Amino acid sequence: MLGSSIFLDWKTWAIGMWIAATHFYFPTPSPNLASQFDALIETFSSSLSPLATLLNLNLDKLIWATTNVALLEISFWSTILLFYLFDHLKLFPKYKLHEGTPDPKMVRECLTDVLLGHLLVRPILLYFSMPLFANDGWLLGSNIPNFLTIMKQLFCCIMVDDTVFYWVHRGFHHSAIYKHIHKQHHAFKAPIALATEYSHPIEDFSNTLATVLGPLLMGSHSIVFYLYTTLKLVQSLDAHSSYNLPFSPFSIIETMDCAPAHDFHHTHNTGNFGGWFIFWDWLCGTDQRYSLHLEKNKTNPAYFNVTKSVKQAL
Ligand SMILES: [Zn+2]
Ligand SMILES: [Zn+2]
Repeated sequence: MLGSSIFLDWKTWAIGMWIAATHFYFPTPSPNLASQFDALIETFSSSLSPLATLLNLNLDKLIWATTNVALLEISFWSTILLFYLFDHLKLFPKYKLHEGTPDPKMVRECLTDVLLGHLLVRPILLYFSMPLFANDGWLLGSNIPNFLTIMKQLFCCIMVDDTVFYWVHRGFHHSAIYKHIHKQHHAFKAPIALATEYSHPIEDFSNTLATVLGPLLMGSHSIVFYLYTTLKLVQSLDAHSSYNLPFSPFSIIETMDCAPAHDFHHTHNTGNFGGWFIFWDWLCGTDQRYSLHLEKNKTNPAYFNVTKSVKQAL
């Protein structure tokens, strides 16, 4: 049963206890942290002010977009570099989910698509969408929510995102829609981290909407927005990396086998429509082929942490 597997898993217990502990101890940000945050924004503000004047841009919107772009780019390229080194230096072959190297022409095409999205589309979208997300006092350090609120909001973001992503992704696999939109993302039958965001503009939009819907509905502070968008990006890179690493934070809870489940989705193009968890797939029975696949791979060390859990879950 799904329930018993969750409650018997020691890691789930440890995380649960840690969350429970935060109910007794959840520090509000110290005035020192708040003033440091304000000083940081002030520095951004004075550095970006000449650019805003030169290009006749709104300074607040420019700070909002630049901060998020900087965080996402640092996270994206450092994670890509890490997985590239794992491949290049053959560091963890045991945990590699599939063999083979992608077609260099496809990689170049993907890189062009990524650069266009990162250098043009994302900054413009962030700049113009700021009024939707930046609620009153978004720039003020004194408005930073306490640790517990940030954790709760991040958890809600994951739940909202996982639900929206599952149903929209499942819709994209409908035979009438698939070839027009989602086929591009599936061009990489054996995914690589760089291909995480290689998709049709409509799919890009729906994925972005699923990511930002949580902070939007909760009216979250910009800190939560920045944290969640960065977390989601790194989780997606991990899911496409082709590695199921024992130290990955994205497979720590049972039924959260992000990389193996999404890797199967690409290599077999069936079922496993979820993003964060296999919960919706389990509930809707869209993980049946995946379960058979895990059964076949039960001695494969790359599936060390999932075969047992999914067998128990079913
Ligand atoms: Zn798909
Ligand atoms: Zn994918």
